[in-house]
Amino acid sequence: MSIRAIYPGTFDPITCGHTDIVSRATRIFDRVIVAIAASTSKKTVFNVTERAAFARTALAEIDKVEVCTFDGLLANAARGHGATVILRGLRAVSDFEYEFQMAAMNRKLIPEAETVFLTTSGRYGYISSSLVREIAALGGPVTEFVHPAVEQALYERVRR
Ligand code: ADP
Repeated sequence: MSIRAIYPGTFDPITCGHTDIVSRATRIFDRVIVAIAASTSKKTVFNVTERAAFARTALAEIDKVEVCTFDGLLANAARGHGATVILRGLRAVSDFEYEFQMAAMNRKLIPEAETVFLTTSGRYGYISSSLVREIAALGGPVTEFVHPAVEQALYERVRR
């Protein structure tokens, strides 16, 4: 049986932490679908088309991955892609409460899917898209945290 995992998120922008989770997931699942949320409660710096383009660039070297965008309920996107696993990444204990709540809600909305959490390598554990945006806005170095194409776009968009 082929197992497809969907990895939903805002990815504003995709970081090495996200990439690390995807690459670990491809060792477990047959296909990993990175699903970029078009409408999110977060105000994004990059629009959904830009976020998807960055994800495609950052993940180009990893096999068994595809990037898509979705609007509305994750449940519909998961079903549309035949995914039976919802993949999420955990950094620290602080992520846990929100992720636990989401997993419980998704179990109601998509009973046929299981949420699976992976943790990043320690060196990416403290990276978040918001922190990377903040550092870039202040003109700090983000080379270690994002793909070069993303770094360039970040400086152009957020540098104050
Ligand atoms: P969302 O708005 O859905 O939280 P994000 O793009 O911020 O979207 O994150 C998507 C997923 O990736 C979440 O499960 C988040 O915990 C995880 N994630 C983000 N950064 C990292 C990281 N550095 N290490 C591990 N997981 C991460």
